[in-house]
Amino acid sequence: MTRHMQLVLATTNAHKAKELQTLLADAGFVYEVLTLEDVGFHDVIDETGLTFEDNAFIKASAVHLATGLPVLADDSGLQVALLDGLPGVRSARYAGENSTDADNRAKLRSELAARNASFSPAAFRCVVCYIDETRTLLAEGISNGVIIQEERGRNGFGYDAMFIPEGYDATYGELTPSEKNTTSHRSRAMTSLIQQLTNSTHISDDVDRRHLRQLYIDVAIAVIDAPQDVERLLSKVPTSCHHEAYEIMLQSYLFGGFPAALDALQRCYRVFGAPPLIGEVGTQVADVRIRERGEILCREIYGSVFEKMIDTLTGVSPDLAQWMITEGYGKTLSRPGCDTVTREQCIVAMLTVLGRRQQLTSHVRGALRAGATIQDLKEVEHAVTERCGTKRSDLLLELILLQERRLADG
Ligand code: IMP
Repeated sequence: MTRHMQLVLATTNAHKAKELQTLLADAGFVYEVLTLEDVGFHDVIDETGLTFEDNAFIKASAVHLATGLPVLADDSGLQVALLDGLPGVRSARYAGENSTDADNRAKLRSELAARNASFSPAAFRCVVCYIDETRTLLAEGISNGVIIQEERGRNGFGYDAMFIPEGYDATYGELTPSEKNTTSHRSRAMTSLIQQLTNSTHISDDVDRRHLRQLYIDVAIAVIDAPQDVERLLSKVPTSCHHEAYEIMLQSYLFGGFPAALDALQRCYRVFGAPPLIGEVGTQVADVRIRERGEILCREIYGSVFEKMIDTLTGVSPDLAQWMITEGYGKTLSRPGCDTVTREQCIVAMLTVLGRRQQLTSHVRGALRAGATIQDLKEVEHAVTERCGTKRSDLLLELILLQERRLADG
């Protein structure tokens, strides 16, 4: 089956872009592939991660946040056994910042020579990260082989001329591009990713989406009000959406507090097994980027009252004001893996159950600013009524009716 969609390829390396495009087309995925240039993304992304996974994720999430489009990013490199896995994540900069491929090969040769070795077992590793509105997928590919001192062949790039893949006598520099593609780390990572993309259907159908959101709202209410129901509700979430439900439980720590979130996540672990996606733990998303994206989202939710709200809160507690942006909106609510409307519906549900009028008022407005409809909010009210009774949902109904009148009055 062929699928049409837009995809941003977050790489500036033209060789890699070409290889990835060919691999996608070969797999029958007909994407309109956009480059960073095409989408006007010119920021320099600091690849500060300590692993290929971290860097692929950092790149994909930065571009996804900026464009809102599905993004595919990769990080790859060479790991040489005799050099304890170096150059690894530093492959592109092995001989120093701004070094060329030839500089890096020369450095590798001299490191081998310093150990009196003419070759060493080695592997190319590639991790690809795909992020769209509801999914974060990671896949890895490895090409084992041997690094030799001499350079053979002119094809490819990077360390290709010094690498003999397993099962061949020739280097990647001597093999044709299509021969390389059959064994390369990048093609293996892509095959694995395409497998995951195929298995995890994108829930784009409106009916499915609405149904899923109702389920997440029920989960959010249960986290606060009926933890014993969490497992039963989670068991209804399709596997391809586990990460979304996980996000809802994770964000609940901001509203229900750490103990309730911990309890919910332990229940989640019992139903889903290991956390369904890498999230951002272990990655090194720069603090400044966290703050920046936190402020962007917080402004979206609070609209024109953002400055006033921050000023007032800073007067009361500058620490809490800062945490609200960095920890709340930056680290938690901006995470990829769940869209803002779904997040806001669940927040509104939790605040209703908790009876927090001030915050509920902000988030009812915020949900509408983020794109939710009055009907979306009525569904939350309906869910709270069903599960907790009208005594608890009345406050939300009052606020929804107020907003409905305001919208009708223009
Ligand atoms: P990245 O652009 O951060 O993924 O760094 C990748 C670096 O690893 C490249 O600049 C190359 O030096 C090396 N590398 C990755 N894949 C290949 C390959 O297929 N052939 C040769 N060198 C590669």
